[in-house]
Amino acid sequence: MIDRIRLVVRWLGWILERIVAPLRSNPDSVGFTLSIPETGTTTIDGDVGWGSRPPALLRCSRCGSDLYHRHPYDDIDCPRCVATHSYEEFAALEFRRFRCPVCGSAMEHGNRHPNRIDVPEWATCHACRYHWEFRHSY
Ligand SMILES: [Zn+2]
Ligand SMILES: [Zn+2]
Repeated sequence: MIDRIRLVVRWLGWILERIVAPLRSNPDSVGFTLSIPETGTTTIDGDVGWGSRPPALLRCSRCGSDLYHRHPYDDIDCPRCVATHSYEEFAALEFRRFRCPVCGSAMEHGNRHPNRIDVPEWATCHACRYHWEFRHSY
């Protein structure tokens, strides 16, 4: 029951985040859009750091079903079988793809240091141009 409440709270937080995010950038932008109309053409939105990583789709090591991992520091629970993984096991699970936190599309991802870091280091959404980086690139 506690778990279920936690899940609902988490879910509501996610929804709220999605509603508030565009509102935050919109109300004050009316006056600005006239002066700087093209600032958003290359990247509309973006984040840096594992803590603001996009929601990830993993494969359960036990039953092979999809695991949706929204928050990087939550446990990774399988909805189908009883498998529970700590978030520290992220790299040990088969990574499938990120889901864009802005528009929900599947994101393209890649790795900048394939031999040293075994988790994706960047992800980009071709639908809305949201981009995420594990680290600053400079
Ligand atoms: Zn499973
Ligand atoms: Zn997107």
